[in-house]
Amino acid sequence: MQKFNSVDELVNVIRPVDPIYCIRPNSIKSACNWFRKIFPGQILYAVKTNPNEKVIKYISESGIKRFDVASINEIKLIRKIIPEARAYYMNTVKSREHIREAYFNYNIKDFALDTKEELQKIIESTSNAKDLILYIRVSISNEHAEIDLSKKFGALPSEALGLLRLAKAHAFEVGLSFHVGSQCMHPISYTKGIRDLGNIINKTKIIPDIINIGGGFPSIYPDLQPQPLENYISEIKKSFSNLKLENKSELLCEPGRALVAESGSSIVRVVLRKKQKLYINDGTYGSLFDAGVPNFVLPTRMLANGRMTSKKLTAYSLYGPTCDSIDYMKGPFVLPNNLRERDYIEIGQLGAYSLTFRTKFNGFYSNQIFEVQDKPIMSMYEKDSSSRYLVA
Ligand SMILES: *Cc1c(COP(=O)(O)O)cnc(C)c1O
Repeated sequence: MQKFNSVDELVNVIRPVDPIYCIRPNSIKSACNWFRKIFPGQILYAVKTNPNEKVIKYISESGIKRFDVASINEIKLIRKIIPEARAYYMNTVKSREHIREAYFNYNIKDFALDTKEELQKIIESTSNAKDLILYIRVSISNEHAEIDLSKKFGALPSEALGLLRLAKAHAFEVGLSFHVGSQCMHPISYTKGIRDLGNIINKTKIIPDIINIGGGFPSIYPDLQPQPLENYISEIKKSFSNLKLENKSELLCEPGRALVAESGSSIVRVVLRKKQKLYINDGTYGSLFDAGVPNFVLPTRMLANGRMTSKKLTAYSLYGPTCDSIDYMKGPFVLPNNLRERDYIEIGQLGAYSLTFRTKFNGFYSNQIFEVQDKPIMSMYEKDSSSRYLVA
């Protein structure tokens, strides 16, 4: 992977016709170091967020060597890049073949479930193994999240009681887990989730070996600016200590977005301008899915590249290169009003849920990835970087 000091330098040298993608290793390291310093437990990186090999390597080099995986291919990926890492198979719905392969071929012991049927599958597919660590995923309110996961995953607290008892009878260790939903905008979701787990513990009188509070830690976007992450951690610490389980249960979290969102940018080029509509060379079938359907507003900046950037700003919408009308990103994306054909734009906060969503629809696909050393457009971790972001 070629390295440059900055996005501006990269664009001056390459002058890319197709979209390119940049990774900021420093950003990944800052986020991992922050979590390692402040989180009172084990940290798993949710691999689906950005499974790029370099990204996984930087995360591991920063000291996070546990990974939340959801498929056999993610398990293989982790085993290939970091053979000694511990992978946790946290998808609550898995085929028997994949459970068997994970346990017998890849030495996976940690499995999540939210039904009796899945528990049965895990027991049978591992030939009644005695060294399993089983996590009951409990469905909790996702009311403060931008992306709600509670309808698809998790046992109701009332069902979790029986499941925890059953799992306890078969497993070497048991855990309780939840996910507050992705980009969770209020720390109270974790407080409530931990309290829900407390009720299950009180009713079953089973003390879980692991309390897994999942992912959901927010990143920062122009229209989604959460409280400082410190507040999330102090809420979590407070609620966890209310359960009075210290020294008995281990705390675990599974951040995805918060570890990598800031680290990735796409550099796109204007192909045509129609007033406030910018037709660009990347879109929702490429690296910009989140700006389309879930309508995330992303930070943008014009790369001057030898031109003047006007101080006057315009709120643009972006249109992707394919022939489908959902290939459209409403924004608003605030940029200088003198933007024109062939100008380059950096679109930030694309380190999470971006690279992997690319398709080859209509023949548009670009896979040029570079490393850069400059600061991200916005940051939860680097206090001075948001100042570069233009606000209308
Ligand atoms: C996706 C996912 C995560 C990561 O979620 P973020 O919102 O990106 O932090 C963590 N755990 C599980 C089980 C997931 O499915």
